[in-house]
Amino acid sequence: MEKLAIEGGVPVREKVLAYGRQYIDDADISAVVEVLKSDFLTCGPKVAQLEQKLCEMTKAKYAVAVSNGTAALHVACLAAGITKGDEVIVAPMTFAASANCVLYCGATPVFADIDKDTYTISPEEIEKRITPCTKAVIAVDFTGQACDYTRIKEICKKKQILLIEDAAHSIGTVYDGVPVGSLADITTFSFHPVKTITAGEGGAVLTNSAELYEKINLYAKHGITRDEKLIQNHENSSWYYEQQLLGYNYRITDMQCALCKSQLEKLEKFAERRKEITKKYNEAFGGMSQITLQKEQPKSDTVRHLYIIRLNTDKLTADRKQIYDALHAENIGVNVHYIPIYLFPYYQSIGYRRGLCPQAEALYEQMITIPLYYAMSEKDVCDVICAVKKVVEHYTK
Ligand SMILES: *Cc1c(COP(=O)(O)O)cnc(C)c1O
Repeated sequence: MEKLAIEGGVPVREKVLAYGRQYIDDADISAVVEVLKSDFLTCGPKVAQLEQKLCEMTKAKYAVAVSNGTAALHVACLAAGITKGDEVIVAPMTFAASANCVLYCGATPVFADIDKDTYTISPEEIEKRITPCTKAVIAVDFTGQACDYTRIKEICKKKQILLIEDAAHSIGTVYDGVPVGSLADITTFSFHPVKTITAGEGGAVLTNSAELYEKINLYAKHGITRDEKLIQNHENSSWYYEQQLLGYNYRITDMQCALCKSQLEKLEKFAERRKEITKKYNEAFGGMSQITLQKEQPKSDTVRHLYIIRLNTDKLTADRKQIYDALHAENIGVNVHYIPIYLFPYYQSIGYRRGLCPQAEALYEQMITIPLYYAMSEKDVCDVICAVKKVVEHYTK
């Protein structure tokens, strides 16, 4: 057997392969430069153009572009009316922002465990955690795969609670014929560089409700409006504007919107490539008894953002950390997504305890994220497959 790099052997590749990275072409660069030469660096025409493009692509009626995905989640919660005393059901297997946004509003995140096979929030677990204080569910399309929205929407409707979809991973995914963006009451995107499309930093909030849209817009812009239809104290002067609630400055610049819009033009191409690489990984690892793959949600036509391999550690002589380190030594930039949120010291300090979500905790101990992004070459994909096989087979019992 080939000697592992971690034991002094030759690594599968010479240069480190990142786990995710952006793809920027000349059209993206020109789009940003054009804004820099224009009259508006912020609050200009590019913001509305991006918002319109997002609506066209997702079939959502309204979109508000904001400064990042976390700001998008915060204004989604504010517009939903989440406040002190409310409970919001969230998934534990996600980035911290998915639950922090609930705390920003003074409300309580209630963690509901993930499904053991698809790794997205389990509808049964949501149901078990609903109380008279439950105001909303924040469902995360973990790795890009849509949650079981048929059942989640049923539950939310029956209990009259709002559904917020954290779609930071799932732009381009289609569920049961409906594009992500018009599935939930409110959907949020992130345009961080590791996500499928980027604005550098950026995010968006989408909804089909005119009422929610007005609130989202207000909360993202200081609570200030100039809209004739919304003005409460009519001063009848053209300088007049009004602050109607306590909002934030979550504006996004025109440079970011120009970049994001230009990226959106490439979404189809990005999605195709991500699907292609996912298929190659599925074929390469599907037959390996040492690895379990994330089970597909049958109704989700998924654009994968992250690719997770789950190690069947009972069949291996090494644990996740050893395999992770061995893959790094082979120059494959693997990662781990995610540490269950409530295990962080901050969440422990406010009373959360290990054991809340056993499926998420078990998955965390066994998971590794391998590289997946548009700009990967065929050789990059082969190197990842080679390295995973080399390392996992080496440590097989
Ligand atoms: C990236 C991410 C966010 C936060 O987005 P930012 O743009 O980095 O603020 C929120 N939720 C999930 C699931 C994410 O992956």
